[in-house]
Amino acid sequence: MIKCYLFDLDGTVYLGGRLIPGAKETLARLAKTAEVCFLTNNSSRSKAEYLQKLHSLGLDCDERHLISSLDSAVRFLQKNGRTRKVFALATPGVKAELAERGIELVEEGAETVLATYDTAMTYQSLTNCCLQLRAGAFFCATHPDLNCPSERGPLPDLGSLFALIEASTGRKPDVVCGKPFPLMAETVRERFGLDPAEIAMVGDRLTTDIPFGLENGFFTVLVLTGESDRAMLGSSGLRPHAVLNSLNEL
Ligand SMILES: [Mg+2]
Repeated sequence: MIKCYLFDLDGTVYLGGRLIPGAKETLARLAKTAEVCFLTNNSSRSKAEYLQKLHSLGLDCDERHLISSLDSAVRFLQKNGRTRKVFALATPGVKAELAERGIELVEEGAETVLATYDTAMTYQSLTNCCLQLRAGAFFCATHPDLNCPSERGPLPDLGSLFALIEASTGRKPDVVCGKPFPLMAETVRERFGLDPAEIAMVGDRLTTDIPFGLENGFFTVLVLTGESDRAMLGSSGLRPHAVLNSLNEL
């Protein structure tokens, strides 16, 4: 019996600004018998900005039912005494949320660099990020995704930026907080306190959503509305519990 559905967002619930047709009705139906929580690696938006986007698409959601890789990263920083002197590569909205949540943001002299999906990134912010990593700051990243699906096609995401940062500085992230890594599952468990078998992970990615679900003992559902197709599934060697054309088949 599934008591909580974790839905990836990009490629699963929507593509860019367009909802997967039927998603609203499907999510409302599932919410009658279980918790419906959105679980995204995309750290380009603050919680307030996400709620605004979800509401504008006609979806019901409150703070409890939204977990992003940014939540997982903030939890990591708090639990590991890394809330002081943090340089954040992040959008203005995300920086505002970090400040609200007690993270001390600095532009130089950072002890920790927090890299997120900064869609407002400039050469100057990239430069500051690299200089502080060269100076020895701890390197925390929200998620490893190489691309973000959109209506226009895949867009370069934070994982692609790791390659640039490593080429420049020799540094790789010391910790990555989102799917498929265990910190994200700890964030989910802390929020809902359910047995893994009572949780379903629904997502479009074979590199993040599906290993995340399988490794944590969740019922794991691949949807084919985003990044993956059946050929990619075949060559991945992964065996999700279900493969659906879209979330509407749940
Ligand atoms: Mg996705």
